[in-house]
Amino acid sequence: MLEDKNTHRTHLSELGEFGLIDHLTKDFPIVNPSTLKGVGDDGAIIDFGDQKAVISSDLLIEGVHFNLSYVPLKHLGYKSIMVNLSDIYAMNAIATQVVVSIAVSNRFPVEALEELYEGIRLACDIYKVDLVGGDTTSSTRGLIISVTAIGMAPQEKIVYRNGAKENDLIVVSGDLGSAYMGLQVLERENEVFKVNPNMQPDLESYQYLIERQLKPEARKDIVLLLDKLGVQPTAMMDISDGLSSELLHICKQSHVGCRLVEEKIPLDPTLINACEEFTLSSTMVALSGGEDYELLFTIAPSDYDKIKGNPNLSVIGYITEPAQGCNLITRANEAIPLKARGWNAFR
Ligand code: ADP
Ligand code: MG
Repeated sequence: MLEDKNTHRTHLSELGEFGLIDHLTKDFPIVNPSTLKGVGDDGAIIDFGDQKAVISSDLLIEGVHFNLSYVPLKHLGYKSIMVNLSDIYAMNAIATQVVVSIAVSNRFPVEALEELYEGIRLACDIYKVDLVGGDTTSSTRGLIISVTAIGMAPQEKIVYRNGAKENDLIVVSGDLGSAYMGLQVLERENEVFKVNPNMQPDLESYQYLIERQLKPEARKDIVLLLDKLGVQPTAMMDISDGLSSELLHICKQSHVGCRLVEEKIPLDPTLINACEEFTLSSTMVALSGGEDYELLFTIAPSDYDKIKGNPNLSVIGYITEPAQGCNLITRANEAIPLKARGWNAFR
């Protein structure tokens, strides 16, 4: 097991609860002026002045959301912050604070938690968010991580899921499906390893896919880019469950239909190769594979010139009146109804 790979193991009882909290949180400097009080009292104090606060929370459970036989703890720490920041950016807000709670069994030594917090610290450092609190407790089995992210934005900047209008363009950042194929590769190698632990996997050609699975980046850069371009999306969400399910959420909440154009869906060449090897349809993987943490949003047609040609953004379709329904326009120019098949459908 990965959490056992350290040669030196400090038992959790050597530090005690308060010693452990101190030890894990001592290297987290405060960088946001809105953080008036962080770790160390009964509660954190955050001052947003006339900005609005945005709050989002996620729970990650060992064996359900992650498998420690192929997810390094440092990556897990990083990703647990990313998935939460992604929700804040999806509201067109900037994340400023996180609260991280952990439940651990005593099979984890202090060194394992240090690795976890190294990933959390890296994420906080790169994305400029302050760790301002949490809770630390024991579990009978496995590791549980709960992260709550807090962000801020002026009221007029906040974007909901329900603002898409007929004729709006549908835009997505980055490329889709790669995180799902990264998971397929990791799971396959894990099975091979169980049968023959001496086999050294050659993962070179899958590097991009594995990175997308293990070390996703939340798209703070896109929120900043849209602001710089003067584009205010009409609806937005992040892609955690797959493009089709997220687009259906936007359409349902906005009371509109859509036409999603298959050939416009952005795919990385590595993903196309891996899909051929696994005999999966790359379109299906992009539609239903999850965990890409890209931003999906709609913009007024008059904003098209502002985003045109930007390598980070792809226009993948447009919004229609509700009576048209939600359709995928295939390469053969057929309209087929979009289905909400989250990534669970593949398992
Ligand atoms: P209480 O007994 O009031 O719940 P704790 O002793 O659990 O307080 O926590 C003391 C301080 O340490 C609080 O500021 C709390 O938010 C913070 N804290 C506890 N666990 C963590 C953690 N895993 N990460 C960051 N901060 C933590
Ligand atoms: Mg507590």
